[in-house]
Amino acid sequence: MSSKNGNIAENVEDVKARIEAAARKSGRNAGEITVVAVTKTVDTDRMVEAIDAGLVNVGENRVQELCSKYDKINRKCNWHLIGHLQTNKVKYIVDKVSMIHSVDSLELAREIDKRAEKVHRIVDVLVQVNVAGEDTKFGIEPAKTEDFIRELSCLRNIKVKGLMTIAPFYENPEDARYVFRELNKKFIDIKRENIDNIDMAFLSMGMSNDFEVAIEEGANIVRIGTAIFGKRHP
Ligand SMILES: *Cc1c(COP(=O)(O)O)cnc(C)c1O
Repeated sequence: MSSKNGNIAENVEDVKARIEAAARKSGRNAGEITVVAVTKTVDTDRMVEAIDAGLVNVGENRVQELCSKYDKINRKCNWHLIGHLQTNKVKYIVDKVSMIHSVDSLELAREIDKRAEKVHRIVDVLVQVNVAGEDTKFGIEPAKTEDFIRELSCLRNIKVKGLMTIAPFYENPEDARYVFRELNKKFIDIKRENIDNIDMAFLSMGMSNDFEVAIEEGANIVRIGTAIFGKRHP
């Protein structure tokens, strides 16, 4: 993949073709799948290349980096916060982001709710689930996810729009399939409950190494960095 660092527009076309193939393979419509271009460590000129190639959803995992790039990108795009979010940093991004993918505690959800009210917004959020139970990853335990979501349903300035997970890295992406399958099952189960103020619309799963498998298992948001921008050199 690092051999293709040069041409972002070409990489975007390649990713789109792979998404279409994965969608076709699983009888899905590629049009229902959103790519979030993960732009952490990527400079704003290269971000603009991806935006101009059609990827209007961009994802950052750090608050500071998101804020410093936010004013430099003079393109219309949707900002996604995909990394762990500290409660004391919510105030910096609450007026900027289209979606926060990483809600993993009631304290954080309450802070987003409070800050959203102040700026007269309703902020879309996803609940991060630690499907594989890795110590190194944030997220709610699968078995506790439904109860957690019920607790969020009373917060009127956030809107839960679905679930997100980060699969463990496997050399063979097939090995991550169980993670995506389990999250999709959880997603469907919770959706079926029709919980008040909860709109289970999005399943954010799959990254450069495993997005095709994630799509086959129902992802409708994929978060892709390396396959678009090449290897990161932080
Ligand atoms: C970095 C990151 C990605 C993208 O990873 P790639 O392997 O470069 O595609 C996706 N999701 C999250 C939460 C990330 O931090």
